[in-house]
Amino acid sequence: MDFFLTEHEKMIRDMVADFAEKEIKPFADISDKEHKFPAENIKKMAELGLMGMTIPEEYGGANVGVVPLSLALTEVGKKCASTGVTMSVTNMVNEVIYRFGTEEQRKKYCSKICSGEYLAGAFGLTEPHAGSDPASMRTRAVKDGDYYILNGSKIWITSAEVAGVIVIWAVTDKDAPKGRRISAFLVEQGTPGMTIGKAELKMGQKGSPTNPITLEDVRIPKENLLGNEGDGLKIALSALDGGRIGIGSMAVGIGLGAMEIAVDYAKERTQFGQPIANFQAIQWKIADHMTELEAARLLCLRAAWLKQNGQPFTKEASMAKLYGTEAANRATYEAIQILGGYGYAEEYKVERYYRDARATTLYEGTSEIQRLVIARNVLGIK
Ligand SMILES: Cc1cc2nc3c(=O)[nH]c(=O)nc-3n(C[C@H](O)[C@H](O)[C@H](O)COP(=O)(O)OP(=O)(O)OC[C@H]3O[C@@H](n4cnc5c(N)ncnc54)[C@H](O)[C@@H]3O)c2cc1C
Repeated sequence: MDFFLTEHEKMIRDMVADFAEKEIKPFADISDKEHKFPAENIKKMAELGLMGMTIPEEYGGANVGVVPLSLALTEVGKKCASTGVTMSVTNMVNEVIYRFGTEEQRKKYCSKICSGEYLAGAFGLTEPHAGSDPASMRTRAVKDGDYYILNGSKIWITSAEVAGVIVIWAVTDKDAPKGRRISAFLVEQGTPGMTIGKAELKMGQKGSPTNPITLEDVRIPKENLLGNEGDGLKIALSALDGGRIGIGSMAVGIGLGAMEIAVDYAKERTQFGQPIANFQAIQWKIADHMTELEAARLLCLRAAWLKQNGQPFTKEASMAKLYGTEAANRATYEAIQILGGYGYAEEYKVERYYRDARATTLYEGTSEIQRLVIARNVLGIK
C-alpha cells in the first residue's frame, strides 16, 4: 500500500492548482452573478489537456489517468464549481465516446473536445418523466433507412447550449427486455429539429448552463449510433460510474475551498478580545469538516485508482460520490456558521460555495440512488 502521489501526479495537481488560483478564481464570482459560462478558461483548460485527461494522445487527449483527473477536479472545485462540473461532465462524455465509439467517432469527436474546438460535451439522459429511473425514458429513435429519427425531450442537460456534441439516449425497441430498449446517439449542436431551451435559473453553479432539449424529427445518420443498438442503458450506467468519481472529487474541492475561507477568517476575526479560532466550538467544526473532507478525498482517490487499474469500482465510485458530496454540503453549511453574519454576505463567498455544493447530491444519481447502488452491491442484489 502506497499513499504517496507520484511526482507526475503532484506536478499535474500543482499545475491545476496554480491555474485555478490565477485564472479560474478571478472569474468565479462573475460566472455566478452574471450566469456566465467560463468559455475562455475552458479553452485554456483544453490547451492544458484538462478536457480529455483519460483520452489517448492519438485522439488529442492527455492520457494521464483517472487519479490525476480526480486531483485536478478537486483543485478546480476549490475555486469554481461551475467550471468544475463543466470539466467533469465533458471528460465523462469524451471518455464514453472513446470507450464505445468507432474509430471515426473517436477521431471526429474526441479530438474536438480535447482541443477545445468543442467547448464541452453534454450527456442527454434525464427526461421530465425519467430522472432516477432512466430506463423509463420516452424519447424514441425510429430507424428510417440510413437514419434514425429522434423525437422526445430531455431536461437538466449540463452544458447543452455550449456543447459541440450531445450524447442523446432514446428508446429504439420498446418491446425489448428491460435494459435492452435504449440506444445512445451522438447528436451535433445545430442538428435540425434539436432545440436547446433557455438555461434553468438555478440555486448555484450558475456559470454552468443546464438546459432542456426538444427533439422533433431529428435525423441522425446511423453512423452516429454510439455502441450497439440496445446497449444504451449499459453505456449510460458505466459512464456514470466514472462520472461519480469526478463529481465526488469536485465536491471535495468545494468543501475545502469553503473551509479555506473559514479558517482564514477564524484566525482574523476577534470576539471577546481574541480570535474566534481560539474557541473550541470553532476548532471542532474545523477539525470535523477537515477530517470528513480528507476521508472523502481518500474515497475518491481509491475509486479513481481502482478505475485506472482496471479493477471493479462501481461501489467505490458511489461511496466516493455519496460521502464526498454530503461532506461538502456539511462543510459549506458550517463554513457560513464560522463566518457568522458575514458568511451570509456575497462578499465573503462561502454562501456561493454553499449554493454550489447543493447540486452535487442531486446529479449523476442522487444520494438515495448512490445508497441503492452501494446496498445492492453489498447485498449481492442484481
Ligand atoms: C444542476 C443539474 C445538472 C444536471 N445535469 C444533468 C446532465 O448533464 N445530464 C442528465 O442526463 N441529467 C442531468 N441532471 C439531472 C439529474 O441527474 C436528475 O435530476 C437526477 O437524476 C434525479 O432525477 P429527478 O430530478 O427526476 O428526481 P427523481 O428521480 O424524481 O427523484 C426525486 C426524489 O426521489 C428519490 N428517489 C427516486 N427514486 C428512488 C428510489 N428508487 N429509492 C429511493 N429514493 C428514490 C430521489 O433520490 C429524490 O430524492 C442534472 C440535474 C441538476 C440539478
